[in-house]
Amino acid sequence: MANFDLVILGGGSGGYACALRAAQLGLNVVLIEKDKLGGTCLHRGCIPTKALLHAGEIADNARHAGEFGVKAEFQSMDMVAVNAYKDGVISKLHKGLQGLVKSRNITYVEGSGKLVSRDTVEVNGQRYTGKNVVLATGSYAKTLPGLDVDGKTIVTSDHAMHMTSVPKSVIVLGGGVIGCEFASVWKSFGAEVTIIEALPHLVALEDESSSKQLERAFRKRGINFELGTKFKSAAKNAKGVTVTLEDGKTFDAEIFLVAVGRGPVSNGLGYEEQGIKMDRGYILVDEKCRTNIPGIWAVGDLIPTLQLAHVGFGEGILVAEEIAGLNPRPINYDGVPRVTYSEPEVASVGLTTAAAKAQGFEVVELNYDLAGNGKAQILKTAGSIKLVSQKNGPVLGIHMVGSRVGELLAEAQLIFNWQAEASDVAPLIHAHPTLSEAMGEAHLALAGKPLHAHG
Ligand SMILES: Cc1cc2nc3c(=O)[nH]c(=O)nc-3n(C[C@H](O)[C@H](O)[C@H](O)COP(=O)(O)OP(=O)(O)OC[C@H]3O[C@@H](n4cnc5c(N)ncnc54)[C@H](O)[C@@H]3O)c2cc1C
Repeated sequence: MANFDLVILGGGSGGYACALRAAQLGLNVVLIEKDKLGGTCLHRGCIPTKALLHAGEIADNARHAGEFGVKAEFQSMDMVAVNAYKDGVISKLHKGLQGLVKSRNITYVEGSGKLVSRDTVEVNGQRYTGKNVVLATGSYAKTLPGLDVDGKTIVTSDHAMHMTSVPKSVIVLGGGVIGCEFASVWKSFGAEVTIIEALPHLVALEDESSSKQLERAFRKRGINFELGTKFKSAAKNAKGVTVTLEDGKTFDAEIFLVAVGRGPVSNGLGYEEQGIKMDRGYILVDEKCRTNIPGIWAVGDLIPTLQLAHVGFGEGILVAEEIAGLNPRPINYDGVPRVTYSEPEVASVGLTTAAAKAQGFEVVELNYDLAGNGKAQILKTAGSIKLVSQKNGPVLGIHMVGSRVGELLAEAQLIFNWQAEASDVAPLIHAHPTLSEAMGEAHLALAGKPLHAHG
């Protein structure tokens, strides 16, 4: 039996970040992973989807090159080459991460682990005991009862990552982040796309104004969507699949992507047997990611916080620092930046108008249209930056739509997390011509001194 300061189960964003930080702080760490170091984000999530989206952006650039005076034409997607590009990015990052783990002297164990007592994980018959155990087994793509996910006609995001050809048509079930990103990719690649979403809006967790702008932009791109109607059934046939909604409408497509959310990987791993408090498979933790069992911690998609890689990183670091006695500040989840990397992008930090009002704030709003921004005109993108602010107080939320607006979150999150008021941001000079100028202009306008803003 081997003894450690930390036994970490799961080598995804949450687990490996915890391992790296703990080792940096001088702790003796074992990291256990049954598949590939880097987890969902690196191999089946953030990185591959963003590579596909970038390939899609280049395809769209080729289609629209003439609008910029460039003679080029879009011929077709070469999916073998697209996958080689995407896999090349993953492989480089994977090697880098393996090198990092090695260089920090972390004991890396390959195999499927199970919590067999309150301080011990068993892998391949070998037991690893720690003063602390960090559970970071992540999440899986959920489906619906009765759906025969075969990886060919009916697929989840795991399969959609490896398509060897562009389907003629796709139905995407779920208009959340993952559904909208794949809809965007496939439309750029040349497929007919229809999204089916039971809620009244796409990216429904975002401010309603952002959802509406994304819907407008998708409509303009020819991405179809059905909102507010529930899915009923999907029947495979020789040409693909026929999807029926509860209101009786039917849709046909070659491929049906099920993107209805992700569930925690916790079944059969010994968590309940050890008395860990759980809710629908998620492990419940306090603000320092401690479970109800002393010495057992949980991070990442396994706990009911935002399912984002950078949240996993943050929680992993928080746990390592808490164990090392640094007493880190708990995470303010409202201050975590969120991006849907579709074309156009949707990015936000802080509270939506509805949430701010529900929390009792007297709210003022400011909408800055990107039509007034030089760089947005150069890029030919449409969208806006919306500020939600407390009356005579700090900015409570920033909500953006447009190409590349995800990059503006670096500033937006400082504004929110440092509780800046519009009058604090207004004097900051933003480089011209950049999209970030729109951030400056929005705060100038909210501070009562608009420059390039009408009305
Ligand atoms: C299509 C898609 C796109 C995404 N895009 C983004 C994005 O752009 N930005 C973003 O921030 N987030 C994105 N995410 C979410 C992000 O990938 C997750 O939030 C993140 O990976 C969660 O990290 P984690 O460590 O909790 O879990 P995971 O990354 O799932 O890692 C858990 C690890 O535990 C291992 N494991 C499980 N059980 C065992 C066991 N019994 N023994 C040993 N090992 C085990 C698994 O093999 C896995 O490697 C995306 C997700 C998907 C699916």
